[in-house]
Amino acid sequence: MTTQDFAGQHITVAGLGVSGISAARALAGLGARVTVVDGGDGDKQRAAAADLEAPGITVRLGDGTTLPEGTDLVVTSPGWKPDSPLFAAAAEAGVDVVGDVEIAWRLRGPDAAAWLAVTGTNGKTTTVRMLAAILEAEGLHTAAVGNIGTPIIDLVLGQGQRGERPYDVLAVELSSYQLHWAPSLRAHSAAVLNLAPDHLDWHGSMKAYAADKGRIYEGNTVACVYNVADKATEDLVREADVEEGCRAVGFTLGTPGPSQLGVVDGLLVDRAFVENRQQQAQELAEITDIAPGSGSPAPHNIANALAAAALARAFGVRPASVREGLRAFHPDAHRIQHIADIADITYIDDSKATNTHAAEASLAAYEHIVWIAGGLAKGATFDELVAKSAQRLRGVVLIGADRALIREALARHAPDVPVVDLDRTDTGAMPEAVREATGLAEPGDTVLLAPACASMDMFVNYNKRGDAFADAVRELSARAQ
Ligand code: ADP
Repeated sequence: MTTQDFAGQHITVAGLGVSGISAARALAGLGARVTVVDGGDGDKQRAAAADLEAPGITVRLGDGTTLPEGTDLVVTSPGWKPDSPLFAAAAEAGVDVVGDVEIAWRLRGPDAAAWLAVTGTNGKTTTVRMLAAILEAEGLHTAAVGNIGTPIIDLVLGQGQRGERPYDVLAVELSSYQLHWAPSLRAHSAAVLNLAPDHLDWHGSMKAYAADKGRIYEGNTVACVYNVADKATEDLVREADVEEGCRAVGFTLGTPGPSQLGVVDGLLVDRAFVENRQQQAQELAEITDIAPGSGSPAPHNIANALAAAALARAFGVRPASVREGLRAFHPDAHRIQHIADIADITYIDDSKATNTHAAEASLAAYEHIVWIAGGLAKGATFDELVAKSAQRLRGVVLIGADRALIREALARHAPDVPVVDLDRTDTGAMPEAVREATGLAEPGDTVLLAPACASMDMFVNYNKRGDAFADAVRELSARAQ
């Protein structure tokens, strides 16, 4: 497919959000006749609609279910569930439904950059940023893109314009939603970092969620990277239809076997991309090379670094560039972000731990923790998380709408741990949560915001929740001085 193939096509874009707006503009720019539909009809949608209508795009607000007459293709936004009536109407009319990643893939052009793709329940953004840093250290022209940064269609269409150097390779973060709607994507190499229940309301079942994640391996040419500690990821590799010669490469926090990357005596080592993997291992970096300014890395970030290294090595990157890239990498905000040390208590913002799997990883990274948790549970249960982490808990402060679920799990699995239930869901609760947590902490402890829940009951998003935590800690620090 080329950019010309969209000219004259009637394309319906579902959803007036960031990716929908980007898709609509890009496709209209290629000569398609574009209609954007959205069930909402508020001020925000009207303002966005006015912007789009100026360049000749039709916008239909207040009806997200009927398929516009004459539609040749539907391009959907990630939030739209597969069972949306619009898609049923499309199926009935024999019209394909695809997502932004599929469009970007189809438009990428004959000499396009290779895609190194990453998915997983948690760690995608971190891994993709590590990967981009490593590729840059190798001197390659690259970008972290997909579920992150510039909308992927804009990046693919924009490359090489204004005389800029075209990309050599892209580090692509893909959500399960994007994979669901990208049937022809064929990455050079790909990684599934881990698989835990999440977004099951969207996918319908764990099986369907895993199957969508597994699509990332389809047609890989060099390496399918999986997590040795998470058998479900290896099963997905086994089920994938890949190109002849493509290899399964595992990553592990233990000693690596042949065709694996792992850790030996504080070193990240490669036993996959070496000449004699039965006998040889190649040192890539020290654990302390991972974002050296941010304290010692949590185990899950070592795993993320190994996955990023595996993809980079699959692309032929030299060992020295892995070390250099990991040293240059800076974690994004709200992901195990160190905020302050006050009176020998460490304050960490992991507001991005929006599900139990992420919170479990972050609770495993500290010895004695006062845990600030709660928010919107999205159908999750907390027994396993609390049972696994109970020993590390000095105390717990609960906030948010679904805090009773966590409180009940604590009563079952950690009955001796003191719990302060704030009984608040207003934005102003965070300073009180931080004060209460500080009261429970002993010298040497970590106060950890890792809510295991979404934030929207109290905050606009997880960023704002993390900011509120950091502000409250700074206030405390100002008072302590
Ligand atoms: P994503 O893009 O998949 O949401 P991020 O890199 O933004 O992932 O990290 C989200 C949260 O998940 C982090 O705040 C951290 O608590 C947790 N996390 C990161 N990497 C992993 C991992 N490999 N395994 C489990 N949890 C992780």
